[in-house]
Formats: sequence, C-alpha cells, structure tokens
Amino acid sequence: MVEIKTDASLEAMRASGRIVAETLAAVRRTAAPGVTLGALDTAAREVLREAGAGSPFLGYRPDWAPVPFPAVICVSVNDAVVHGIPDGYRLCDGDLVSVDCGAVLDGWVGDAAISFTVGRARPADTRLIDTAYEALDAGIAAAVTGNRIGDIAHAIGRVCRTAGYGIADGFGGHGVGRRMHEEPGVPNEGRPGRGMPLRHGMVLAVEPMLIAGGGDEHRTDRDGWTVRTLDGSRAAHVEHTIAITDEGPRVLTAP
Ligand code: MG
Ligand code: MG
Repeated sequence: MVEIKTDASLEAMRASGRIVAETLAAVRRTAAPGVTLGALDTAAREVLREAGAGSPFLGYRPDWAPVPFPAVICVSVNDAVVHGIPDGYRLCDGDLVSVDCGAVLDGWVGDAAISFTVGRARPADTRLIDTAYEALDAGIAAAVTGNRIGDIAHAIGRVCRTAGYGIADGFGGHGVGRRMHEEPGVPNEGRPGRGMPLRHGMVLAVEPMLIAGGGDEHRTDRDGWTVRTLDGSRAAHVEHTIAITDEGPRVLTAP
C-alpha cells in the first residue's frame, strides 16, 4: 500500500527534510582526520535536539538486527557500504565516509545520506563519490509523473554500471512518510517502463550504493549491522528523500 501525501503533508516533510540536511552539514563540518565517529554522532544529536526533532534511527530494530541501532546516524567508512555504527574509530587521512541520517518532525520522517573524503582524497575515491551523486541525480531526474519505479532504478543502475562499479545487492530506496521505510521499494537497478506508476504525492528515498571493485556482494560484520563490500574495495552511499509532483521531483532533504 503506497500512501499518497497531501500537499500540506509534503510541506511538513520538507521541514523534517531540511533538518536532515542541516544535520548532515554539521557532521560534514565536524569530520576530519583524528575525529572519532562517535563525535560525529554527538554533533548530529545536537542539531536534532536544537531543532526539536527525533531520530528514526536511534533504537531502530528491524527483524534481522540483533540489537537496536544505538545512534542517530550511520557512519560507514571505506569498505563499509551502509549501517556503520559510530564508535571510537578515529578518522584517518584519506578515509571515504558515508553518513546516513534521519529526522522525525511532527511525525514525518526525512532520510538522506552523503559521501565525502577527509584529508587528502584518493582520485579513485573522488571518482566513486562523483559517480554516486551522478547516479542519485539521474534517479531523481527520472522521478517524474508518467514514469514508473523501474525508470528510476534503470537511471541509477545505468550510471553505476557504465562507470564500472558494483551495486550493493539487495539494498535500495523506499517510500518515506510517517515511517522511515514504506512501500514501494526503489531498486538501484531495473528495467525502464516497469513497476509502479509514479504519482503526485508519492515520497521516495532514492539511494544508490556503489562498490568500487565492480562486484555486488557484501557481508555483515559481527555487530549485526555494518555492511561491508565482500572484496574489500571502497563504497559510496548517497541519498535524498524526494516528492513526486506534477511540477517535477522535489528534493525534500535539500539544504
Ligand atoms: Mg538513509
Ligand atoms: Mg533510506
């Protein structure tokens, strides 16, 4: 069941999305070589608290998770793709960092992620991250009324594959609303013209997850959360929550 949001609800979701953007910006400003992942989580908590927003991540426990998620952001470093738990790890020069963040305001969820490097970037990482944003932009551009979910998936997948990257198998975007994960699923690869038609008022998280080595396989750490590339190559994950509107896609988690 896909919930179609009213225009008033979209405005409310824009407010929560803006807080997500502010939180990610604060994390980005805080991140530097020598800073712990826990300090990034602390910075994120401060922004959410000041905005009067809650976290859909903190305490989140899907049926596959051994423990509730203990933080307000996921921080996935280097070969970690998604769901990294912020801990005492100190960022090193050249690390590739993906940060996923959610906020809840007045019951509405926003969900977005950024990838960046700290210190001196490796050219290969810069290319991976640039391609991830290019895939995100392509997916958003395809998120127009008259298109279908498969058009978004195809647009994302084509950018990733053309660049020679893998796509984390089994993960993808999703509907967003009063819950973080709603119908429909938004795969990161697919066939154009297939799947659910896109309608004004649908809200989707679009989130490509690229693997530098070119394979799609991954494994999960013993913490039960952190997803890493199977080949040990680096990964990037970027995300926006967007609304489908008759006026075109609206990025609810834009700054
Ligand atoms: Mg997310
Ligand atoms: Mg998401």
